[in-house]
Amino acid sequence: PRSNRPAEGPRIIAIANQKGGVGKTTTAINLATALAAVNKKVLVIDLDPQGNASTGMGLDRNQRRTNSYHVLLGESELDEAIIPSGIPGLAMVPSGVDLAGAELELVQIREREFRLKEALKGHGQGFDYVLIDCPPALGLLTLNALVAAQAVMVPLQCEFFALEGISHLVRTIERVKKVFNPGLDIQGIVLTMFDTRNNLSDMVASDVRAYFGAKVYDTVIPRNVRVSEAPSHGKPVLLYDFNSRGAQAYVMLAGEVLKREREAAA
Ligand code: ADP
Ligand code: MG
Repeated sequence: PRSNRPAEGPRIIAIANQKGGVGKTTTAINLATALAAVNKKVLVIDLDPQGNASTGMGLDRNQRRTNSYHVLLGESELDEAIIPSGIPGLAMVPSGVDLAGAELELVQIREREFRLKEALKGHGQGFDYVLIDCPPALGLLTLNALVAAQAVMVPLQCEFFALEGISHLVRTIERVKKVFNPGLDIQGIVLTMFDTRNNLSDMVASDVRAYFGAKVYDTVIPRNVRVSEAPSHGKPVLLYDFNSRGAQAYVMLAGEVLKREREAAA
């Protein structure tokens, strides 16, 4: 059985990679939408000052007045910062511009690595899953996500040096595990923006699979123009174009995630 899952709390998964533009946000909102579509209750916490997950879900500025910044700094209870996404079963804690300064403000706070974990205690109880969309850095924001989470999902773009980049992340996860969060696991690695016309994608994918084995999801997210168009419409690609290859890949990924979760719980 899963040792570090709170008796009745949600399963908390951080979506992290210190590299920008690898598909963290896209994976967070589309995996969340696909899980909600099969009746899971899902909360997405936008922990990136850029707020791409919030924008991508179509949330405007005045819906973000209470946001993850206030939660981290203890100025708001987490439950008070949760807003509906417009999609049944899917809610969000949005990000706000103040979050850009949070890294610096957190430095001066006691137990600064535990702010999100503390905020989640007793909160988000109605949810099956909490997905945390991390910023593209391994600073205090991502650290808070890794300390609060039970597992990390790593989106990995199939490009040259992909493995080098991920080794830094893996070392960070190991350190967090040792110092702050012994139960932390790599839940899975998902290959994103896969280009079938590109031999390099294939080579990188087989290198990553050789190295990480079963941690790598069978589902590969293809590079698909519909995925890149969806955010400007304020919608996950699952709502923007359900039949697109990108949307269907996220449906498959959600199925695989649920299968792994069932196996891990058995
Ligand atoms: P991150 O959160 O890691 O910075 P994003 O999810 O924001 O990365 O993705 C970076 C950019 O690539 C965005 O413009 C996004 O729309 C686009 N993108 C992400 N996944 C795909 C995909 N499978 N196909 C095409 N474009 C994608
Ligand atoms: Mg992002």
